[in-house]
Amino acid sequence: MAIILEPWRISEDGKDIEGEEPAAVLALEPASHIVADGPLMYSLHVQCVTQQLIVTGEVRALIQFECSRCADPVVVEVKEPAFFAERAIENLHDTVDLTDEVRESIILAFPSYPLCQSACRGLCVCCGMNLNKERCSCKQPAKERWAAFGGLDKIEVKNGRTQKEEVEE
Ligand SMILES: [Zn+2]
Ligand SMILES: [Zn+2]
Repeated sequence: MAIILEPWRISEDGKDIEGEEPAAVLALEPASHIVADGPLMYSLHVQCVTQQLIVTGEVRALIQFECSRCADPVVVEVKEPAFFAERAIENLHDTVDLTDEVRESIILAFPSYPLCQSACRGLCVCCGMNLNKERCSCKQPAKERWAAFGGLDKIEVKNGRTQKEEVEE
């Protein structure tokens, strides 16, 4: 379970390699709510130029997160379309293990604010009800709820207003 390159098989013109590895190579925290939902996939171009192994390409994986607003599970395709790694080759017959670089680039591409849907209504701050599924009768301070996200995404602000209007009806 590792992405191993064999420099002696790679010419200066380079070589395309494609494949997948079990998600275990991502070494995600077992206790976290972030879990892989499929293998890690890669599509790479490898070149060996003057003692340097240069790898470019795309790496991607389906990862399940918790929605930042309602905590429902949401599967996101995490993709790094501009993967890049460079290694000095000391001995042409040493294999190169790229697993760490690939894992790191996937983790860096994680969304900081995953949402189950862009218009997710989140949980009621008073009763905790999932507002995507039901409407509660709490009087919500809708403006304050969304103020923290103001400017991040226009849809969120608009959605907050919609919610307030509905509460006032
Ligand atoms: Zn949600
Ligand atoms: Zn409520």
